[in-house]
Amino acid sequence: MDSIALKSLFYSLLISITILIISSCNGRDSNIVNSDKNENKPIPLTLIIHGGAGEIKPGFLSEEQEKGYKAKIEEALNAGYAVLSEGGESVNAVQASIKIMEDSPLFNAGKGAVLNHEGVVSMDASIMRGSDLNAGAITGIRHIKNPILLARLVMDSSKHVFLSGDGAEEFAANYGLETEVNNYFIIPRRFQQLKKKLGSDTLHLSYNNLEVGDKYGTVGCVAIDAKGNIAAGTSTGGMVNKQWGRIGDSPIIGAGTFADNNSCGISATGHGEYFIRLSIARNIADLINYKGLSIQEAAHEVIQNQLSDLGGTGGIIGIDNKGNYCFEFNTPGMYRGVLQEGENAEISFYGK
Ligand code: ASP
Repeated sequence: MDSIALKSLFYSLLISITILIISSCNGRDSNIVNSDKNENKPIPLTLIIHGGAGEIKPGFLSEEQEKGYKAKIEEALNAGYAVLSEGGESVNAVQASIKIMEDSPLFNAGKGAVLNHEGVVSMDASIMRGSDLNAGAITGIRHIKNPILLARLVMDSSKHVFLSGDGAEEFAANYGLETEVNNYFIIPRRFQQLKKKLGSDTLHLSYNNLEVGDKYGTVGCVAIDAKGNIAAGTSTGGMVNKQWGRIGDSPIIGAGTFADNNSCGISATGHGEYFIRLSIARNIADLINYKGLSIQEAAHEVIQNQLSDLGGTGGIIGIDNKGNYCFEFNTPGMYRGVLQEGENAEISFYGK
């Protein structure tokens, strides 16, 4: 081989090695570094949900109410998990679980959502797919029966990520999404809640101290499917007595919802203003991605240190790209459940 041929062989080898190194660092499939229990094992199908955090302590719910929440969370877990076990996509599983909780008056989402300052239900939702970082979100929705379905439609069928109010409902009308009059969403206990807030001087969302009985009640779901794709979604009526078109964290990608196959999927619940300021969901993903923290370590840092230091309350659920999952909250309780391949469903309400 002459020297020119040798040189060109050397350079083409160098280029191939460089391309290999770059692609292994940037691929959406690259692995996070952690030493969690699922390291080197096939990724287990996993679905995790929350139904809000807050002053949920033993004795807060009657036996009857506990049974009701447990049954609904179980139903939502099973509906989402059925999608995963039939080989379906995590984004469809997330949607199926959230739809069940939106249809239940037990949670602050869809039917049973909290009332704003005008005594009207105005809902927010978002959904995100970790394989391509596509996302859909909506805010200020008053008539769409299942806001999570509209968020999904925005993700799949529009060129946009975030639609609001009348425009979002106009977009929905093109696809024939089921609508309801606003009264459909309103349940009597939400009137009492609003009356209590209007009677106090907490007109401006100054919820620095949660009152006994307060809870956020937003719903969320994260899932990982057989292909290792993660998805996350969140749906809410926001906070009682919200005013001036206030938007919380739930529909904001990176605050209330985030999913990236490189790191994790997160859905949050809590005092949205703090979750927005700390970009809670993305913040946790970044700690995994850039600092190599496990999902438990990252969630603990963001909720117990950053959120608590700022004076915010609430929590998150999350699943990483190995199927490790976590619940983290700084409130007394969080309605929550998880169903993982090969395990029984776990449902709990109160602190750890
Ligand atoms: N995070 C929601 C918001 O601030 C409230 C909740 O989680 O219940 O709108």
